[in-house]
Amino acid sequence: MPNNTLPSQNNFTSNISSEELKIGLVKWVTKNSSLLEILIDAYCVVDLANNIVAVNTAFTVLCSESERKIRKNPQFNNFIKTEFCPGQCPTIQVITSEKSLRLDEVSATTKLSQDLKLTISGVPIFSDIHQLMGCLLTLRDVTAESKLQIKYDEKKSSAITDGLTHLYNKVFTEQCLIKLLKTSIRTKTPLTVMMGDIDHFKHVNDNFGHLAGDHVLSCVANILQETIRETDIAGRFGGEEFVVLLSNTPQAGALIFAERFREILESTQIFFEGKHIPITISLGTSTFISESVGQLNNPEEKGKQMIGECDMALYSSKANGRNKTTQFETIKIEKGIDPTTKK
Ligand code: GH3
Ligand code: MG
Ligand code: MG
Repeated sequence: MPNNTLPSQNNFTSNISSEELKIGLVKWVTKNSSLLEILIDAYCVVDLANNIVAVNTAFTVLCSESERKIRKNPQFNNFIKTEFCPGQCPTIQVITSEKSLRLDEVSATTKLSQDLKLTISGVPIFSDIHQLMGCLLTLRDVTAESKLQIKYDEKKSSAITDGLTHLYNKVFTEQCLIKLLKTSIRTKTPLTVMMGDIDHFKHVNDNFGHLAGDHVLSCVANILQETIRETDIAGRFGGEEFVVLLSNTPQAGALIFAERFREILESTQIFFEGKHIPITISLGTSTFISESVGQLNNPEEKGKQMIGECDMALYSSKANGRNKTTQFETIKIEKGIDPTTKK
């Protein structure tokens, strides 16, 4: 065993040699053998030079090496390489920091496996006089669970998103609206719902084909996603209809946003199979001002009401020549209804 350089030791015990510490570590393993035996996960005990001094069978299985081979060439790095921190090894991390370590789903490689996921826990091992002697590392193979989790996440995501545009679907968007209404009340911030419907979309399908129509929908969705804030929610409500939930957005802000989106769409050239497809959108908005309501007894009803108001405003944009934004509040004023009494 080479005389290795030790990490910083406290003054009281600085004259203890690495060999003595290793003997102390082996004694610790023997003393705690019954405790170590009950560990289900793979474990190894390493000394201050990162040499393995004890393992269980699960560890030999995990790294596909015999105990004899490990004893012959005991450097921890020879058996498992992890990617939790470039060039860093979990055992060395525990030893140099003298602190416990917990790593979840770390990518790791062993002799036989290139894409393992491990959950690793490490604790420093101290002597009776608090001299650091090494560390105990447990390693749990969570590769299967991790793959299952990815599949579950994909399934979960497909249950709430629309396959073509990857925007949220109608059901999820409606659920978000109810939640955001409640948040709006709590935080006393306004909430705007915007509805958009592509103009003369039927012509796109008729003139350029259904695939071109799908391409346009996907482009419009991408532009929408790039235009909104991270905190906003964009959903596909029907064929060529979109709904956007704009948190903390008053009526004036809603108009600015809607017009910006409408203009971006109008000026973006969408091509399909070399053919330019001109696109415009009509928009309608409805804004909820929480201060004017105080308590909201039925957010579900309120959500439906706001969607209906957006629909009316959108219809007005269509009726007035399309490629326009109409705000429900302005229709109400035109009709002589005070927007603050009904909302
Ligand atoms: P307006 O300006 O009044 O909105 O006219 P419009 O042609 O956009 O409206 P209309 O409701 O008459 O037509 C909607 C079209 O959207 C008809 C339907 O075939 C098409 N559509 C709905 N969903 C999809 C889809 O997923 N892909 C494609 N390519 N077309 C779709
Ligand atoms: Mg439509
Ligand atoms: Mg349309």
